[in-house]
Order: sequence, then C-alpha cells, then structure tokens
Amino acid sequence: MKRRTFLQTSGFIGSATILKSPSLDNTSLATEPIIIATWKNEKGTKSGWDKMMQTGRALDGVEAGAWVPEADPNETSVGYGGLPDRDGHVTLDACIMDHLGNAGAVTFLEGIMHPISVARAVMEKTPHVMLSGAGALKFALDQGFKKQNLLTPASKKAWEEWKKESKYKPIVNIENHDTIGLLGIGKAGEIAGACSTSGLAYKMHGRVGDSPIIGGAVFCDDEVGGACATGLGEFVMKTLGSFLIVEFMRQGMSPQKACEEAIMRIVKRYKYQDFQVGYLALNKKGEYGAYSIQKGFNFTITKNGITQVIESASYMS
Ligand code: ASP
Repeated sequence: MKRRTFLQTSGFIGSATILKSPSLDNTSLATEPIIIATWKNEKGTKSGWDKMMQTGRALDGVEAGAWVPEADPNETSVGYGGLPDRDGHVTLDACIMDHLGNAGAVTFLEGIMHPISVARAVMEKTPHVMLSGAGALKFALDQGFKKQNLLTPASKKAWEEWKKESKYKPIVNIENHDTIGLLGIGKAGEIAGACSTSGLAYKMHGRVGDSPIIGGAVFCDDEVGGACATGLGEFVMKTLGSFLIVEFMRQGMSPQKACEEAIMRIVKRYKYQDFQVGYLALNKKGEYGAYSIQKGFNFTITKNGITQVIESASYMS
C-alpha cells in the first residue's frame, strides 16, 4: 500500500492513531533508542534501526533509513525513480544534522542515488553546510559517489503523460509528495535528523524546497529534541517549521502540541489551505508527536525492534 493511501485506524496514542499491533507506548528513557520517519516507511525505519543497533549512533541510523526510499525505483518522491521537474530532470534535496549541531545539505543535485550521504559528507568533510547543483555533483564525484540516471522508465512515462495536459504552473496536492524525514535517538541518548527528497513532482527547473533547509525540514537540538517536515516546502520554509517546533518544545510544549502550533502558524497566516504540510517531532525523553494540515499524513516508528505505522491527527478532519 502506498504511504499516501489512507490507512485504517484502530486505536489512539494521544491524538495519533495506532495502526498496527503490538503497540508501543509514547515514552521511553532518554537513552532508549528510537527511530521515526515521515509517511509509511517501515523498511526505512527498520533498516535505520538495524544500523543504529550496529554502530549505536543516531546519525548512522537516520542516514541508513533514508537510503531505503532513495534506492527504491517505486518510490516516486525520493532519489532513484523520483518524478522529475517539468523539464525532465530528477533534482534532489537532502540534509542531515547531528546532536552536536553540525549540519550538511545538498540542493538541486542530479544523478546521485544517495544525496543524504553527500549531505553527510558536506557536513563532515567541508567547512560548509550546503552545496548546490553542479558544485554538489562535483563534490559528490570527488568523494567517490557514482553518477547514474535516476529517471526510471516509469517516471519518464508519468512525466510525458503530465506534459500533455501541463499548464506549466505548480501542481500542489497531497498526492505528489512523500519526502522522507527521519529522527533518531541513539544508544547514548543523542538525537539526529535527516531528510531526503526529489521534491515536488513537475516543479519548476531550479526549484529547491524545504528539504535541504536546516531549521525548515529538519532541526535537532540535543538539549531538547528534533523535528522534521514533509509537504509543500514553500510553507515550511516561510515559517521555518522544524526550528519552530524545537523552540516550542524548549519552552515546555510536548512534541504533539509543538507540531500542532507549527501547523496553526501556517493555517492562520496563509489563507490558502489546499495543500499538505506534515510535521513530526521527538523530544529527548523519546516522546513523539505529529500533526498535519490535511488528513492522510502518517508516520513510522521503530523502537525495541518493533515497527508501527501511525496515522497523524490533522487540522482538516
Ligand atoms: N517538502 C518537499 C518539497 O517541498 C516535498 C515533500 O514533502 O514531498 O520539496
């Protein structure tokens, strides 16, 4: 079943609904590892969890979690198989942040299967936070990443179909984004976050969304927790949603309340609400929360080796 498909509901944790048993509680010790991701990303969180169990590190876990949709040709919003922009280019945005406040990002990157790992290399091997376009590609190749065609025949066909009716203006609805955002707490209780996307399908060539923006799609502060975002990036960027959520949590809000307040910031400020934004937050106690504008946002958790998909509460019910 696609992540974007509405899922059957069966119970409640706070204002989120548990979709699968066995159930998890919404708290854990600060040192108890957990990995959570936007949308229905069970393979991603499981794989991230396994990596985190091997190395102990949240940063390794969130990176490995992103690798799964990045390499999946059937995942049309991330990496290989991502739907192209309106000129037929698959352009990738990604960012990563560790518990020390280090961050790395790539934007408008083409031809590299794992942009999240290029973002990590930017963080760890350069004095910069963000590399873009041709410069990001050159850096990736210098680092040993291989260039390849990410436009699958299926995505090319979908783009060719879209062109027949194309009005050459942004198409924005909850059907054309599924970005993966991840948050993890490692064995030492440290937090990290990551995000990877091919962005909005059929976006203008050169468009960069929130996904590589530190504080937009991802923010972590090891004193407080972390947040990540999916949805129409323009509104996440205009409100710096993940940073806002972490600051709300710093002021004492629960992850759930902080996500709700950040969504309300968008809803109140911008009249047009026919788009989706979804937020996910995790505090240092291991409590999590999620909230979206539209129905249909869900997220995945792996904790104690158990994985669940949970439907988020939403403003438009
Ligand atoms: N946030 C992404 C972007 O605006 C899209 C998504 O979440 O799918 O590029």
